[in-house]
Amino acid sequence: MQRFQLYINGQFEDGGGRFASIDPATGEAWADMPEARKAEVDRAVNAAEAALWSGPWANMTATQRGKLLYKLADLVAANAARLAELETRDTGKIIRETSSQIAYVADYYRYYAGLADKIEGAYLSIDKPDMDVWLRREPIGVVAAIVPWNSQLFLSAVKLGPALAAGCTVVVKASEDGPAPLLEFARLIHEAGFPAGVVNVITGFGPSCGSALTRHPKVAHIAFTGGPGTAAAVVRNSAENLASTSLELGGKSPFVVFADADLESAANAQIAGIFAATGQSCVAGSRLIIEASVKDRFLAILKSRAEAIRIGEPLDMATEVGPLCTERQRALIEKTIDASIAAGAKLVTGGRKLGDKGFYYAPTVLDCDHVTSPSVETELFGPVLSVLSFQTEEEAVRLANDTQFGLASGVFTQNLTRAHRMIKRIRAGVVWVNTYRAVSPIAPFGGFGQSGQGREGGLAAALDYTRTKTVWVRTSDDPIPDPFVMR
Ligand code: NDP
Repeated sequence: MQRFQLYINGQFEDGGGRFASIDPATGEAWADMPEARKAEVDRAVNAAEAALWSGPWANMTATQRGKLLYKLADLVAANAARLAELETRDTGKIIRETSSQIAYVADYYRYYAGLADKIEGAYLSIDKPDMDVWLRREPIGVVAAIVPWNSQLFLSAVKLGPALAAGCTVVVKASEDGPAPLLEFARLIHEAGFPAGVVNVITGFGPSCGSALTRHPKVAHIAFTGGPGTAAAVVRNSAENLASTSLELGGKSPFVVFADADLESAANAQIAGIFAATGQSCVAGSRLIIEASVKDRFLAILKSRAEAIRIGEPLDMATEVGPLCTERQRALIEKTIDASIAAGAKLVTGGRKLGDKGFYYAPTVLDCDHVTSPSVETELFGPVLSVLSFQTEEEAVRLANDTQFGLASGVFTQNLTRAHRMIKRIRAGVVWVNTYRAVSPIAPFGGFGQSGQGREGGLAAALDYTRTKTVWVRTSDDPIPDPFVMR
């Protein structure tokens, strides 16, 4: 079995315990993982705090920090194939997706490398004579970055990039499911030459490792990606250290198709929107909201596309959909689909486990029109599309917003004015019009409601990792008068 280590204070170590990581394509253990417990969390946070206040990182210019980030970006690009293979092996996400995503992760580090010396303070035109007053932007402090198992290199880059550009130090916690790529990435941090303690990479279980990290008194900011239930626990923990939080959570994103849309093109986007990453994507377009007059036609296209998908070995470049990451996830999907069918939903395609090894589930389309189907409300994090139809634009808006989440959304129409009305009325952090699933380091990303708060990506994300210090300087040489002598 391949063996991985934690990375704490510039050293690789075994951790307080060990656990096996399961290959989702076979259901069998393939790697031996280190477990960080409270003692390792403590050492990682203490190392991050020490590096924040003294030593080479604390004294580096922003331009030098940017250069280190550029070096890291180059190393990610050079090692993308190896990291992609590890991610595929450990999470089941198919190799064509991990390869292209990790190559793009390098661009996220490049973007924040360039931003490092463009984080500016401000000069204030103060209402008093002989005073210079300005705001310094300083690193917010030690950051706890917590990611779920899907896309760990990508989800950590959107935290590490801006945090390091801003001068923070970081403890990254990889998920216990599929931590291999992030633990391996620590080797690139080391090779790039980040001083000891600046970035620490650990993994372990939520209640012991994650909880100890998020309530640690020296943590100043928690950048969390995961489910809303865990986010609530993280926010409760932050009541102990008063750390600020940014929360990137789940979704049940509406994919709205009007009858005037290019249906072939919309169907391609829908197939990618729900079946890419085997549906294990926070932005999965998992609720199709389709104009009734084209519903049958659109479902016929989706059914034939879904049934033609090549399902197979995640490490095979030809595979288009791989297994789910865990048996736990597959069990939730099965249970919810059974309950949805019992409530009256009709299977258009899929709805069953595949194969006798690994955690495969068939790409599934479920017609939920006029039914109270649990599949419409629950984030399934799997290849399951629930279909609802509408007669009017008003109804489309109502259905799109009928969710506790508000992460992403898609609108397909050729009608420009309608597109603009929909953009305004949909309650979601991202609206894609006649496209879906586009992301960029330049564009902020985040959600409303149960999908979280705060934005990742873009310039503002780097500012979120800073705090301001207000500086008052008296510029007069006149002595300060005795305050107790009346004039
Ligand atoms: P979880 O919320 O279960 O886990 C997320 C992370 O939190 C993991 O590292 C987990 O560790 C850790 N954790 C668990 N319990 C605690 C705790 N008490 N204190 C601190 N940390 C803890 O999410 P999943 O792994 O199930 O991931 C899927 C979820 O993530 C979905 O809801 C998905 O939509 C969301 N997501 C959101 C994205 C976004 O950008 N908005 C992007 C990708 C996913 P461990 O794994 O060891 O339990």
